[in-house]
Amino acid sequence: MQVADIAVIGAGVAGASLAWAIAPQRRVLVLEREAQPGYHASGRSAAQFSETYGNAVVRALSSGSRDFYFRPPRDFDGYALTGPRGTMMVGLDEDPAMLDRLAEEVSALSPGVRRLTPDEVLARVPILRPERVTGAVIEPEARDIDTNVVLQGFLRGLRREGGDVLTDAEVTGLSRTAGGWRVETRAGTVEAGIVVNAAGAWADRIAALAGAHAVGLTPKRRTACLIDAQGHAVDDWPLVVDTRETFYFKPDAGKLLLSPADETPTEPCDAQPEELDVAIAADRLERATTLAVRRVSHRWAGLRTFAADKTPVVGFDDDLPGFFWLAGQGGYGFQTAPAMARLAAALLLGDAVPDDLQGLGITADALAPGRFTRNGTAAGIGAS
Ligand SMILES: Cc1cc2nc3c(=O)[nH]c(=O)nc-3n(C[C@H](O)[C@H](O)[C@H](O)COP(=O)(O)OP(=O)(O)OC[C@H]3O[C@@H](n4cnc5c(N)ncnc54)[C@H](O)[C@@H]3O)c2cc1C
Repeated sequence: MQVADIAVIGAGVAGASLAWAIAPQRRVLVLEREAQPGYHASGRSAAQFSETYGNAVVRALSSGSRDFYFRPPRDFDGYALTGPRGTMMVGLDEDPAMLDRLAEEVSALSPGVRRLTPDEVLARVPILRPERVTGAVIEPEARDIDTNVVLQGFLRGLRREGGDVLTDAEVTGLSRTAGGWRVETRAGTVEAGIVVNAAGAWADRIAALAGAHAVGLTPKRRTACLIDAQGHAVDDWPLVVDTRETFYFKPDAGKLLLSPADETPTEPCDAQPEELDVAIAADRLERATTLAVRRVSHRWAGLRTFAADKTPVVGFDDDLPGFFWLAGQGGYGFQTAPAMARLAAALLLGDAVPDDLQGLGITADALAPGRFTRNGTAAGIGAS
């Protein structure tokens, strides 16, 4: 029997970052079903940090994570957590007025954001088809995240503070005790005052185990693959995404990481890529660029898990004492993790939302699980 103040279910970036943030104050044990942390969504991301991506709450959480990524704390032993990249939102057959509006909407969100002419777009990424490019909006300070270094840094910091991670420890049962929770896992029983549900695509399933209402999360499969850059010097290219987000590509160690930006609703699972989605990605790339996709060297898929409003779900369950949600990170789990971990740690300790996050307009209510479970509306909401 192990005893902890807080048992965190899930060792993806959500669970690991929160465990790191709260370990100086509480005894934390992270419980992970797989043999290694980060096996699911957190090991499969496109690793981009962008302050213009996502809805207003997500953008604020990303901005609240900026300092962490640009000036990492000492726990990370001097490792660079991000590298320069940039994000270029390209208009393909797009009305230039729409690009003007987009530039205006996002210009205050990140330094240096600006509108690009077609010539400026082609100077940056010469494979784009000139007849289709109507311009772009660039976010120069978007970054590549070294996701493995980030995840391992959180876990190292956790252990330094006396916390631990149990792997091969699938949670199979949750029951209330006088002091909190009894957590049954495949690696033994854990007693904890508080349980944190950071189980990614499985978070509604964990809620069911605990007897909580579901919040109505939808895991959505996203596919990615690596293709040959065919002699192009791609290293300095930004991530290129069309304004309708129907595909994107970015340099990845001399190759191009390509995704059809698919969002296929899926049951929680070990997501695998479908050949059709890889073919769709190749087709969209070939229509937008002069590149011909001859060889795909690696392909994978992961689940981006969304609540109905595409805003993460963070906070204590209204109906179940000691049951805390940290779920629904969607396609933004890395770029928002540092701020979300600080927010979650504050709420767990009964503190106010940190001042800097309040200054960005973040409120506990906007993220609270009760927005879905109050008045018994629960899982019926169903994300699209
Ligand atoms: C293709 C793709 C591209 C992406 N690109 C980006 C990007 O550029 N930038 C960005 O910020 N985000 C991106 N994301 C999203 C990001 O990867 C996710 O938001 C983030 O990884 C979610 O982290 P998590 O910890 O919530 O989930 P996960 O990493 O899935 O972790 C949840 C963990 O819970 C464990 N678990 C589940 N059930 C149990 C149980 N019963 N007992 C014990 N453990 C359990 C699972 O095994 C899993 O390890 C992308 C995702 C994908 C798939």
